[in-house]
Parts: sequence; structure tokens; C-alpha cells
Amino acid sequence: MQAEFHLHHPSVPIVGSDRGFPVRRIYCVARNYAEHAREMGATGREAPFFFMKPADAVLPVPLGATGRMAYPPKTADLHHEIEMVVAIGRGARRIAADIANEHIYGYAIGLDMTRRDLQAELKKLGRPWDLAKGFDQSAPIGAIHPAAVVGHPRQGGIRLDVNGVERQRGDLSAMIWSAPEIVAILSEYFELQAGDLIFTGTPAGVGAVQRGDLLVGSIAGLGALSVAID
Ligand code: MN
Repeated sequence: MQAEFHLHHPSVPIVGSDRGFPVRRIYCVARNYAEHAREMGATGREAPFFFMKPADAVLPVPLGATGRMAYPPKTADLHHEIEMVVAIGRGARRIAADIANEHIYGYAIGLDMTRRDLQAELKKLGRPWDLAKGFDQSAPIGAIHPAAVVGHPRQGGIRLDVNGVERQRGDLSAMIWSAPEIVAILSEYFELQAGDLIFTGTPAGVGAVQRGDLLVGSIAGLGALSVAID
């Protein structure tokens, strides 16, 4: 056979630049806001735990545009999770939390879209979460704001509206593990490299979306991210 290869490296727009941010890996932190951890069944402060999505699961949404996500197969309970995303600009192993900011290139708004029904089943069976978390287009993400411009957001509102109605609202200061702490802990397990994205967890209020819904997420200082479900 004649193979047809259409290699396309996933990339996320950068605010104020013609160059994209080439995505290497997507790491995600689970249960990083106390209220959401409780709604998912956790008790007390636990060490953060991580999962991953494939790099090409990103659905990059340019500044001011509306992304279009196809409702994925094999679920009847597609959930939204609004999250701040950390973009790594300089890699290393065992990064100390107090210098972690030096490794962070910038920040974006992301959606950790989740097949909640599949995830519940996988959890019950003690199986990996990949099918629930790592599907195509499962990581819509807005343009990356360089930290050189916006600084390192550690407080301020994080919110998601669906069809104009508020679903999730929290504050970055309520994160159980801060962005620098997450970078530090994750870098004990992996050598982080430029191009890595880290989804830092979602506040309470996760819920289902349907075809035709419009999701608008916002984070103080990082603008908004709009995604329509087709
Ligand atoms: Mn999440």
C-alpha cells in the first residue's frame, strides 16, 4: 500500500506573536480545588495526582475566535472543566517551587473535556482514564499569554458560562496546589520540557454539555475562551 502521512505538529497561538507554541505533552492535575475535590468524592488535602492527554488532543482557539468541538463518540455525559493552563518555556528535572516561575512561559484558558460516564466506569473498575480524558479535541485551549506580559496569575476569578448561564465559578487562590508547586511536583516524575502544557485543575460546578451549546470560559487577566459544541 501507499501510506499517506499528514504529519501536523500541534501548536497553540501565542498572544502578540506570529509564532505558535509547539505542544510537546499535556499533563493534567486532578482535584485541585477543594470544592470540586469534594464533589468528586475526595476528603481532605491529598498529594496531587496527574494524568495525561495526547499532544494532538488540543483544540487551539485563536484570540477572539470561537472553537468548534465535535461532540465525541462513546459518551452521553460530556463534561466541561474550566482550568488555567501553564505553558512550560524552559525544561528541567526537579524544579524547586520557589524558582518554578522561571520555567513558565505563559498561561492560557483551557477546557479539560471529560467523558464523565466512561470515567466513572473506569474508576469503578480501577482502569486507566485515557478513554475518558484523552480523546480527540478533549483539550480546547485559548491563546497563550506570555508571563512577560501578564505576570504569574495566582488569584482572580475563573469562571465558565454555558449558553450565558454561569456553571463554574472559583478563584485561582483556591487552588490546593499552586502552579509553581505543581511544576515542582510534576518535575520530580518527568523531565519537563519547553512545549509542555499543564492543566491545573477545575473549580466546582462541572456538568454536562450538549450539541449546540456555547461554552465561554474566562480567567482574570487571561481574557476569554469560546467553544461551540457541534
Ligand atoms: Mn480537570
